[in-house]
Amino acid sequence: MDYDYLVVGSGLFGSTFAYEAARRGKRVKMIERRNHIGGNIYTENIEGVNVHKYGAHIFHTSNKKIWDYVNQFAEFNRYTNSPIANYKDEIYNLPFNMNTFNKLWGVVTPQEAKAKIEQQKIDAKIGEPKNLEEQAISLIGTDIYKKLIKGYTEKQWGRKATELPAFIIKRLPVRFTYDNNYFNDKYQGIPVGGYTQIVEKMLSSEMINVELGVDFFDKKEEYLKQFPKIVYTGMIDQFFDYKYGTLEYRSLKFETTVHDQENYQGNAVVNYTDADTPYTRIIEHKHFEFGHQSKTVITKEYPKTWHKGDEPYYPMNDKKNNEMFSKYRKLADQTPSVIFGGRLGMYKYYDMHQVIGAALSVVDKEFS
Ligand code: FAD
Ligand code: UDP
Repeated sequence: MDYDYLVVGSGLFGSTFAYEAARRGKRVKMIERRNHIGGNIYTENIEGVNVHKYGAHIFHTSNKKIWDYVNQFAEFNRYTNSPIANYKDEIYNLPFNMNTFNKLWGVVTPQEAKAKIEQQKIDAKIGEPKNLEEQAISLIGTDIYKKLIKGYTEKQWGRKATELPAFIIKRLPVRFTYDNNYFNDKYQGIPVGGYTQIVEKMLSSEMINVELGVDFFDKKEEYLKQFPKIVYTGMIDQFFDYKYGTLEYRSLKFETTVHDQENYQGNAVVNYTDADTPYTRIIEHKHFEFGHQSKTVITKEYPKTWHKGDEPYYPMNDKKNNEMFSKYRKLADQTPSVIFGGRLGMYKYYDMHQVIGAALSVVDKEFS
């Protein structure tokens, strides 16, 4: 069969592109290095629980078009992410909100909370924040920084908070209301029955042929000759043979166990924010879908240094790496037969809704 496209990677970017191309009558060959489709949103049923195999995934967006788009492929429940933080057995609500401030300082009104934060900011002499530590203190003061941010952040990224970009902490809302919703977005939920069905539906067309367990780099030159156009969602530096150096990533180890009890921790996500606990969070998957199975499945998430060959979960978007990425991006612009996309192809800390949005923009351009 003659194909119009080769799509490398069956994650949300590659699958959205393949679905839209097939809808337009294009023939798509997809290759995937892993032995399953879905990339990092893959969920697997264990003991009747949909387990997020590559970390907790909560869909959230304020974009109605993207919300409607993803709802074509699954029904979403009303799950609202409200993680709790465990700091040496003291429990705090996240994101940083009046419940957190009340537990920590005994303050009751937003004015009291703001005054407390302002005083801590003045005492710490923070001007224009230049790194994650300064950004965090300027947003919520030193007490919260020390108990809920420093330990978690330095474990997660393997670097001092003073050596990390400020934008990472801006992902989290700071609120002066008693609202534990982790996201500010209009729409949020978990697909009833897990995420894998979304990708299965996207790839169900007979115009799409998927081959699992195949690495693009085993036959790169052959693929480049054989396919008129390639959509590539792997690591951009690897595509260009690390010509300008190796981009840095952060990797993770997931330790999943089944427990013979109904309820292990009472919440889907519990963050361990001290420096000594080696994992950053424990996920109890059943709570994403309000499950009442007799057993429960939990996953401990351990951050780890990334070496070539490990799974590259997070791009390290600091100045040095972003500058290196810009050089790769220029090369990509000079390679019109290849579309680079997704978290690894764009080297961006993208959430799912942003990946779908980016894929739909590429689709618009490609088929306009
Ligand atoms: P991926 O899902 O990484 O897919 C890329 C695919 O390409 C993979 O399957 C990979 O195996 C394959 N591939 C790579 N190289 C090759 C090759 N050489 N040959 C063949 N195949 C290859 N987003 C949210 O919106 N909400 C969340 O709560 C959330 N939580 C997250 C938690 C964690 C721990 C992580 C790591 C991410 C989280 N995300 C979350 C982000 C979300 O996972 C991504 O936005 C999305 O899955 C990215 O899709 P993608 O297609 O770009 O990449
Ligand atoms: N963070 C923190 N304490 C927490 C949760 C998050 O300090 O309890 C910081 C940490 O630096 C993390 C960043 O906020 O990397 C973004 O958190 P998010 O939950 O968005 O991380 P992700 O789910 O993408 O790993």
